[in-house]
Amino acid sequence: MPKQQRWMRELARSITSAEGLARALSLSDDERAGAERAERQGLPIRVTPHYLSLVDPSDPSCPIRKQCVPVIAESLETAGDLTDPLGEVAHEVAPHLVQRYPDRALLLVTDRCAVYCRFCTRSRMVGDGGGAVPQDALEPAMAYLAANPRVTDVIVSGGDPLCLATPRLVRIVQRLRRIPSIETIRLATRVPVTLPSRVTTELVRALRPFHPLWVMTHFNHPKELAPASLAALVRLADAGFPVMNQSVLLRGINDDPDVLAALFRGLVRARARPYYLLQMDPVIGTGHLRTPLSRGEAIVEALQGRLTGIALPKFIVDTPGGMGKVPIAPRWVVSRSNGLTRLRTHRGVEVDYVDPS
Ligand code: SF4
Repeated sequence: MPKQQRWMRELARSITSAEGLARALSLSDDERAGAERAERQGLPIRVTPHYLSLVDPSDPSCPIRKQCVPVIAESLETAGDLTDPLGEVAHEVAPHLVQRYPDRALLLVTDRCAVYCRFCTRSRMVGDGGGAVPQDALEPAMAYLAANPRVTDVIVSGGDPLCLATPRLVRIVQRLRRIPSIETIRLATRVPVTLPSRVTTELVRALRPFHPLWVMTHFNHPKELAPASLAALVRLADAGFPVMNQSVLLRGINDDPDVLAALFRGLVRARARPYYLLQMDPVIGTGHLRTPLSRGEAIVEALQGRLTGIALPKFIVDTPGGMGKVPIAPRWVVSRSNGLTRLRTHRGVEVDYVDPS
């Protein structure tokens, strides 16, 4: 079998059933009930051998386990829960194309991922069995992009675009590159975390001619910085892909300044920029994983001054209904009047800044 097929074989060996999870891990009653429910409804189960290898089988609160093993709380609805928290259906401008800002658009090219994350914002459609969107079904989206030159940045997402076979992914990127107004293309992928064997030399060689191509990764916990994942990040950086990471703040998984500091430092060492720390979207059935907004604010405050600026992401709330992202910062401005602004620094001291007269 050619070398490029190795990741496909690994993908095929993923766990996709409650029974499979029970064989690999000793499931609690809660997990078993959650996994059996996930087989029937909601977000399906999928865990790659690599991601499973990061799970501590003896730790019920393992941060990797909590991201991939369903629990029965997924059947609960919490205040504020939405099926489509970012209003993507309402903002669909062509089939498989979502536009929420004037200059960028989101192209959804597949419903498949290597691992189905229990907090997924797109649980309404991810893993629904549609598979890769055929190239001709993407043509109306391409026509829209060609007719709307204000869109200069296209995020290729899904599902996970890196779960597509390389020739299929290349055809999509090639087609986008034929639209002269598109400047940047971003590949939004969790594969460097969940299936790092996918980031092959063959893949980066095939994509490199289409720069500027950015890769948006999704590491949530320092345990995910496994040697294979670090090698995948280095391979991308060496091939000239700017790599930006978006982490989701998850209750009981990474809502701790020490955990996030270790993650962000590790990413920077691998030349991936911690870009956003995202407040979790209010997706139906994920209330047990969400933190109050004040928790994120406190974490960002604790990290300010402690981490180098290149390791400090913006803390972002993507507002429900698709109304746009809002950066949330601790209150560093104490007061302002007559050109004098009193600032509170990370040292806890207050300093005046005088505006020019
Ligand atoms: S990889 Fe992304 S799209 Fe896929 S299940 Fe995880 S969060 Fe959702």
